Amino acid sequence: PRGHALLLDPLLNKGTAFTEAERDALGLRGLLPPHVFSMEEQVKRVMGNFRRKPDALEKYIFLTSLQNRNETLFYRLVQENLEEMIPIIYTPVVGQACLEFGAIFRRPRGLYISIRDRGRIADILTHWPVNDVRMIVVTDGERILGLGDLGALGMGIPIGKLSLYTACAGVHPGYTLPIMLDVGTDNTTLHHDPLYIGLNQRRARGAEYDAFLEEFVTAVAHAFPKALLQWEDFGNTNAFRLLHQYRERICSFNDDIQGTAGVALAGLLGSLRISGAKLRDQRVLFLGAGEAGTGIADLLVAAMREEGLSEAEARQRCWFVDSQGLVVQSRLAKLAEHKRPYAHDHAFVATLAEAVNALKPTALIGVSGQAQAFTEPIVRQMAALNRHPVVFALSNPTSKAECTAEQAYTWTDGRAIFASGSPFPTVKLGEREFVPGQGNNVYIFPGVGLGALVAEASQVTDRMFLRGARTLASLVSAEDIALGRVFPSLTKIREVSLEIATAVAEEAFKSGLARRARPADLKADIAARMFVPEYQSYA
Ligand code: NAP
Ligand code: MN
Repeated sequence: PRGHALLLDPLLNKGTAFTEAERDALGLRGLLPPHVFSMEEQVKRVMGNFRRKPDALEKYIFLTSLQNRNETLFYRLVQENLEEMIPIIYTPVVGQACLEFGAIFRRPRGLYISIRDRGRIADILTHWPVNDVRMIVVTDGERILGLGDLGALGMGIPIGKLSLYTACAGVHPGYTLPIMLDVGTDNTTLHHDPLYIGLNQRRARGAEYDAFLEEFVTAVAHAFPKALLQWEDFGNTNAFRLLHQYRERICSFNDDIQGTAGVALAGLLGSLRISGAKLRDQRVLFLGAGEAGTGIADLLVAAMREEGLSEAEARQRCWFVDSQGLVVQSRLAKLAEHKRPYAHDHAFVATLAEAVNALKPTALIGVSGQAQAFTEPIVRQMAALNRHPVVFALSNPTSKAECTAEQAYTWTDGRAIFASGSPFPTVKLGEREFVPGQGNNVYIFPGVGLGALVAEASQVTDRMFLRGARTLASLVSAEDIALGRVFPSLTKIREVSLEIATAVAEEAFKSGLARRARPADLKADIAARMFVPEYQSYA
């Protein structure tokens, strides 16, 4: 019966909002209580239910079940309450949800493909009910936020990111597909957890892993030729390799490397509007030289080159401390590929505090997953060195942040330009109020993805991220700056994503990577394609 099937299809279901005419025409009569509600009334009801949930994880579970029941209503709710909802469907609460993913598991969403499925991935992709998938987020769960290897529990991240694509950039939910590639886990706690949902074995690596990924990418390119694939939360040895190996073969990018880079660069550009300094005069010290850190530095170098510096000069302005200490020439032989361009000729020092003293950075960027690594003496030293020290504590979730917003403002007498990966509440210092910016990728990847998608780009290039970052920085208002905030308010995210998508699509057309003709009014064309959570009439 058609009516019953409609109620079970989250993309089509309207619940109690089916009209009298629809109830008659579609065989729904009797399946719903008689009162017809408007969407506004439904929003009021679900918002009430949401707020009654006793804790954040319960709120996550509630939203997930709403999403699985009625996606239109879910997105309306999220869109109307972004600042309240994003921390639930994404960092920090999604981190907790991943940790508990096995225990709270109710209904599958997306595709789970395990290393035991080798030889039949193409067949598995045909099990997905939609043929025209345009946006895939895939993880193998090895580095979930700053929480480490969560194996199959990491599926919460692709699901959450795709929800953001729809809520923040209007990518139609029917186009999206989250995928978990389960190659095992080296998290032995999970091996002993009877409720663990993934493969109970150690991670496949080397040739076996590579062959699995190769089969996966080939199958995706064949089944969904117009799809953009986003690599998400892979461990860093695989992340860099996969990105470089596949970025020209299928339209793809790695959000941890490139999206983070875009948002952090935008934050740095925003900070210059507060400090009045020039980008070329910045000296940036990173704690953490992984995907996020070197990704940011690579994009920063590209931006500095646009402002006239040579590549060598630009690199000289980026310094790294990793788990072994300052990244310098004398360590070159043992350094991973991605760190080598930043191994400068300098005496080795072992700690971040010593590095700050030696290098006198203008900006400190934490992407190490090490909670509280920006200690009071370190932040105070940054304040002694700079009128407006830039302190970005980007590690997620909140529990991993290098310092809190309150610490950063307190230890610098309110002079710090602060941003974090997960949100912090407003800080009061005497009479003054500071609104910490959230240096969250959500400002960048939805817009970049939408732009690439609309242009049907064959690749996502670094230049697209650079355009995205500059566009984002240009959207920070004088009002934001006055509050010390280097990112626009999250409430403006749909406009931000539209602007970024337009700039990115423009770049795709200019560089000859678009696979469709350029519409006369690009921005209007993109705006018209953005999904709006409203009920369609079926009568
Ligand atoms: P990653 O590739 O694993 O890199 C982590 C880096 O941190 C490595 O270079 C590691 O050093 C270094 N590290 C570990 N312990 C350290 C210590 N005690 N002292 C100094 N450095 C240490 O991870 P990632 O993808 O870059 O992500 C790192 C963090 O950034 C995560 O918490 C993630 O949530 C966060 N992040 C935030 C955003 C955002 O908010 N916009 C975006 C992406 C990532 P070795 O190289 O020596 O092992
Ligand atoms: Mn990530």
